[in-house]
Amino acid sequence: MNRPDHDHRCADFLDTLSRYLDDDLPEAERCAIERHLRDCPCCEDVLESLKVTVAVCHEKGRPALPREVRQRAKARIAELLHQAPRAKSRAR
Ligand SMILES: [Zn+2]
Repeated sequence: MNRPDHDHRCADFLDTLSRYLDDDLPEAERCAIERHLRDCPCCEDVLESLKVTVAVCHEKGRPALPREVRQRAKARIAELLHQAPRAKSRAR
C-alpha cells in the first residue's frame, strides 16, 4: 500500500524543489531529493532550469521563487514524464 509511485513522487518533489533551492529544507528531505535526482533525469533537468532562474531572482534581490516559475517547472515535468514512458512502465 505504501509503494512509492514514480510519477507522484516527481509531482510532490516539485513542491519541495523550490524550498530545496532556497535552502529551506531539513536535512532528511534534502537527502531524499538528492537521491531522487540521481535516478530521475526529468527532475534533474527541471532542477537545472530552476537553478538558473533562482540565481537570476537572487541577483535582483527577490528571495522567493515566483509562482509563475513553479508552475512552469510543473508543466515541464509533466511534459518530460510524457516523453519518458520507461519511468511509467515500472510503476505496476
Ligand atoms: Zn522525478
